[in-house]
Amino acid sequence: MVPVADRAEWVDFAPSSSDAGQVGRVTSSRPLAAVPLGEAIPLPESPALVCDGGVVVQANLAAARLAGRWLPDSLIGFPLHRLLTGAGTDAELIGPEGHSVPVRVTRWIAPGTNLLVVFLVDVSDLCPTRRQALSTEPRCTEVESVASLRSWQTSTARWSRRRRDINEPWALECELREEQRRLAEAQRVARIGAWEWDPASGRLVWSDMMHDLYGTQSASGPTTYQFYLSLVHPDDRGWVDELWRQLVVDHLPVECEHRVLRPDGEMRTFRCHGAAITDPSGSLRLVGTAQDVTEQRTAETRVMRSSQRFADLVAIAPVGIGIFDDADRLVDANEALCKLLGYDLETLRGMSSEALTHPEERVERLRTMRAYPSAISESYTVPQRMLMRADGEPVYCELHVSASVQDDGQRFMLVVFSDVTERRRVAEALRYRATHDELTGLPNRTAIKDTLTELLASPAPDLAVLFCDIDNFKRVNDALGHDAGDEMLVALARWLCDGLPEGCTGGRLSGDVFVVICSDVAAQGGVSALVATVSALLRTAIPVRGQLIRVSAAIGVAVPDAVTDNAATGGAEDLLRFADAALFEAKRGGTGHFVMANAALMALADRQVELECELREALVRDELQLFYQPVVDPDGVVLSAEALLRWPHPERGMLSPDVFLPVAEQGGMMRELDRWVLRTALHEARDWVTQDGRPIAVAVNLSAQLPGEPGFVDTVATAIAESGLPWDRLVLELVETALVDLPDETRRAMGELVERGVRFAVDDFGTGYSSLARLKELPTQIVKLDRRFVSGVGIDPSDFAVARAVVDMVGAIGRTCVAEGVETTTQFQVLRGLGVDAYQGWLFSRPVSGPAFRSLLEFGRLSFACSGDTTQ
Ligand code: C2E
Ligand code: CA
Ligand code: CA
Repeated sequence: MVPVADRAEWVDFAPSSSDAGQVGRVTSSRPLAAVPLGEAIPLPESPALVCDGGVVVQANLAAARLAGRWLPDSLIGFPLHRLLTGAGTDAELIGPEGHSVPVRVTRWIAPGTNLLVVFLVDVSDLCPTRRQALSTEPRCTEVESVASLRSWQTSTARWSRRRRDINEPWALECELREEQRRLAEAQRVARIGAWEWDPASGRLVWSDMMHDLYGTQSASGPTTYQFYLSLVHPDDRGWVDELWRQLVVDHLPVECEHRVLRPDGEMRTFRCHGAAITDPSGSLRLVGTAQDVTEQRTAETRVMRSSQRFADLVAIAPVGIGIFDDADRLVDANEALCKLLGYDLETLRGMSSEALTHPEERVERLRTMRAYPSAISESYTVPQRMLMRADGEPVYCELHVSASVQDDGQRFMLVVFSDVTERRRVAEALRYRATHDELTGLPNRTAIKDTLTELLASPAPDLAVLFCDIDNFKRVNDALGHDAGDEMLVALARWLCDGLPEGCTGGRLSGDVFVVICSDVAAQGGVSALVATVSALLRTAIPVRGQLIRVSAAIGVAVPDAVTDNAATGGAEDLLRFADAALFEAKRGGTGHFVMANAALMALADRQVELECELREALVRDELQLFYQPVVDPDGVVLSAEALLRWPHPERGMLSPDVFLPVAEQGGMMRELDRWVLRTALHEARDWVTQDGRPIAVAVNLSAQLPGEPGFVDTVATAIAESGLPWDRLVLELVETALVDLPDETRRAMGELVERGVRFAVDDFGTGYSSLARLKELPTQIVKLDRRFVSGVGIDPSDFAVARAVVDMVGAIGRTCVAEGVETTTQFQVLRGLGVDAYQGWLFSRPVSGPAFRSLLEFGRLSFACSGDTTQ
């Protein structure tokens, strides 16, 4: 292979280039006058000569200067071959004194003459290094045609345009140089190397860029095809070799991409083009380019892998994923979405979001979500959409919609469907449970309040709330058991709801309190008529376990007008509260009563609320007090004392528990109050000493709620521990109704405390509905006979009989009997005669303050009525 540098020719840009022979044919014998001055060919400003028969007949100043002379005329008459050495496009312009300038030569026969115009381009700036470099580049036109790269095409196009303008020959040289420069730059920028290969010799000529790209040394001379192959990645080498060899055989252009292992160990990817070019002389040359596309491919691979990953993810995602086009049609969906909606992909494709939406939900179809201003957010969440499965079943989905743009600029929506049907079902069940009474299925307090709030929000609410308390329900419960009581409540609930007139809703608030909301009182003929209707409905007989139980109800009524006249807010909560207050009044009036919440009642209720707030504060500020009432043995010896709450109210004086306990109960403060009493009583009892050193126990009244609490044992244990009092000095009093049907958990807790030494007392025995026979079942060690029987024991034979029966029974089952409210010596003597173990009452002492009780203890034994209750 002839080295490119040796060819001394560059790119065939000129319209017609003369060869050495042509120049040789020019002889100096031709008269100079052959070109009359007037006919001088217009020359460009760049160096140019005109020759006739090989002799310079015209020159411009630039040519003279380039040739080291002052005037153009000094060149006239010079044989061209004396001025220019070399026959091709690259030559040396010989100046005087042997000085020479490297020039690029373009020759052109002026049309209509046989004059040769020679254009010279000074290429000394490219020499020697640049010249060398350029001359070793494979031919540009060939490279251009082989690698159809945009920049080259542009230059070629520009060049071919220029070719048509060849009448401006002086521009040609400039263009030539400019194009070459651009080409070189384009190669550098595009990192494209060029090569030429002589398959016969195996010699390969690489451009500098080629060496650069392959990380080899250009200075180390011409390379070989084998050397090139050795750089090709071993895995690619075989087919790459085959491909190039094929080119040699069939001359068809080749385009391929292969990896290269550079000598520095780096692996790069090259995009190669190759083509066979046949010279005008008929000789075959293989030329081509190589471009480093490693970064491009890496990026592409990354993108490809990432989109593959995305596709894989979508495919295996457990949530449905669908892509909707701008026309709201589903274009693609994953397996999960097909499964979720019960369609195969083919059917699903093309379906609109509207078609997927359940008819009931279509009003608010998926597409309407697209009305969301895109400026705010291109993605949004639809918390719940009811879609329709292929089988017509509804499926609830949470949608995450995200708008995006495809590569081609098309908008599309990516929608993630999460099935929330189960979540919704659970939520609905929870909501139902939260708003419905578990036993009867009727709306509960929460639901009633919500309904009332809704009704009250209407422009002119004409509603009434009726609280209905079933008379003597506790008696039923106690006599027949809780299960029968529950049965009755369920039956009654059904009876009530079935019988209520239209526009009325029934609910259950708690225990035996039902509620009726009427949304159109006028339609019922007014409040009184409504109450009469409901009252009549609840005056009935309900069959329970084979028995017909007669029921009736006390009713408390509230209407919003009354509330708004008297209360600041007039909301649902107030309405309920006033109905409650009215019910309270109705119950006091006896069975079957009804009371309408009125201004006075509401004022009272308001006062109650006020008192509740004050009590809360008093508790926080530790302003409550405990009084103690001694319990004595038949000889008047103090055995224990019952702690009784007092509230020294700043305005109303000392308040007794009867006044504020209902308020505390209403305000849900009983537990808190009990804990306070327990702590305080145990703490104060530490100072109690008798003269003979006998320990005095302290009895604490507990509300029904506290023992049922999970931390009950701990609460007591902590209070005991804090006081340092022995366990056996604590008595816990609970009313009879709080002790029947105890949950196992509570029974266990009580048992645990009893084991440690605590005693339990059943308070006010005889006021509940337990039969004597059930006394045995109560987990208590002490029975306190209620004051009601004690007061009549000396005068009423039936009270005496009850007292005797209780005392006998208590004795028989090994419990201690305490008689409460012993006021007279007669009562005391009768009871002592019956064998009562201990006595409590004004006869011995009224409840007294802590300090007073301590001084009372100093007496040791109490004689009758030795002390007075300062509060009574
Ligand atoms: P109770 O447990 O039956 O307490 C006895 C009540 O009878 C006390 O009323 C006491 O002053 C009163 N009493 C005592 N001897 C006589 C008497 O000979 N004749 C008359 N007529 N009454 C007598 P008090 O202190 O007003 O307590 C009323 C109720 O308040 C108590 O009834 C008890 O159920 C409740 N209570 C009092 N203190 C507390 C407490 O700290 N916690 C809880 N949960 N309830 C308490
Ligand atoms: Ca008590
Ligand atoms: Ca009592």
